[in-house]
Amino acid sequence: MIWTAGRRKWAKLRGRFAAMRHVMSSTPGLIGSDYATREQAWEMLEGLFSPFAHGLTAAAIAIIAWYNWYADGSLASMAAVAIASATFSLRFIFNRRILRRGPDALVSHWVRLFVASSFIAAVGWGSSLSILIFTTGHPAVFAVFALISAPVQGASARAYAMPGTVIVHISIVLGMVGVAATVFGIAVAIPLVLLYLWYQIGFIFELVALRTKMLKADHDRRALLSEVTRYNADLAVVNARLQTFALTDGLTGVGNRRDFDEKLGLCVRDQPACAAPLALLLIDVDHFKRFNDTYGHLAGDECLKQVAATIRRVGRPDDFTARYGGEEFALILPETTREDALLLAEQVRQAVDSIDFRPLPDIGAPLTVSIGVGVAAAGATIQPQDLVEAADSALYLAKQRGRNCVMDGAVERQSIQLPA
Ligand code: GH3
Ligand code: MG
Ligand code: MG
Repeated sequence: MIWTAGRRKWAKLRGRFAAMRHVMSSTPGLIGSDYATREQAWEMLEGLFSPFAHGLTAAAIAIIAWYNWYADGSLASMAAVAIASATFSLRFIFNRRILRRGPDALVSHWVRLFVASSFIAAVGWGSSLSILIFTTGHPAVFAVFALISAPVQGASARAYAMPGTVIVHISIVLGMVGVAATVFGIAVAIPLVLLYLWYQIGFIFELVALRTKMLKADHDRRALLSEVTRYNADLAVVNARLQTFALTDGLTGVGNRRDFDEKLGLCVRDQPACAAPLALLLIDVDHFKRFNDTYGHLAGDECLKQVAATIRRVGRPDDFTARYGGEEFALILPETTREDALLLAEQVRQAVDSIDFRPLPDIGAPLTVSIGVGVAAAGATIQPQDLVEAADSALYLAKQRGRNCVMDGAVERQSIQLPA
């Protein structure tokens, strides 16, 4: 039981060591360099170069040095203050420089600088604290030992970014003060220092695991977000395509009945505010059943395509062409007077009359259309079906008059003039 638990613990520890080795050997050496963005790398480096802990430690060293001078009249501790001040100043200068870095600054360059400055600082703290051990009287030496934990803690707290360098850094500091304390006659400092070091390394492991998890989660979130954005863009394209499909007649490519109903509804809704009439042409291919019976439905389909294209071509840019159903088409003419609508209808009739059906079998007589024109007066309040009924009854009249002609239909229900 204990054996299994021990083995499990050992395997976990080995896993952590392996992860740690991977992290330390990664370029540029920053934690999660596989996941971190450039901004995150700079943020970590700025944290590493923070002079805060250095400032506090230097101040604490100065306080003890002042106490030594005050209590014993000894200025020997001032050497520690000098070294601590130099160490702090170095960090302070680096901190100013990294905050003022230019746009071309390289992460790897600053990582190397940090490693170098960290080792210099370790020697600085190690030697100043060692001097403090030698120059402090027994009653106050406990304060020195309390103080030793300051740079170690400060470095460990920032180990989430570069654990390898930080572990070496605190090893140098604790190693130097451990040796100094032993030489000074406090041999118990060595096992204490080792325990402290081991505790800090455990703490750093936890920190690194947390930081790596956080960076990975952030990386995954960003990847997911860009995937969702891409899917959304694809979806928007598909939706637009679907919308077009839903409103387009599959055979002729003009608007379908649904599109026609929508567009006519919109035009009619705006009509009361319009200064010009709204016109509608209903265009029906003459004797189309006979055409189909004679030449087949495929030829009939081709014919419908050409009629639709002709209507669209004759219509103006703001006019709307739709297949009303079967061999009937509609042309909505916004802001068009009765005269202009009749003129346009006649142009459509003539254009269809002169379609060149050469690729189709010789159809003998030209293919013709009958057109009914419905017009709603400017500013009139009408229903869409009023306009359709007007055009439809005119179309019926055109069929009765022998086909291949244009007839004018009035909107049967009297339009209501809106009050000014
Ligand atoms: P009229 O001059 O009175 O309009 O006579 P018509 O033959 O054109 O009218 P009718 O309503 O009797 O026949 C319409 C024909 O249109 C019948 C139908 O097969 C044909 N048709 C409707 N839709 C299509 C289509 O998509 N393709 C083909 N090829 N024919 C179609
Ligand atoms: Mg018909
Ligand atoms: Mg017909």
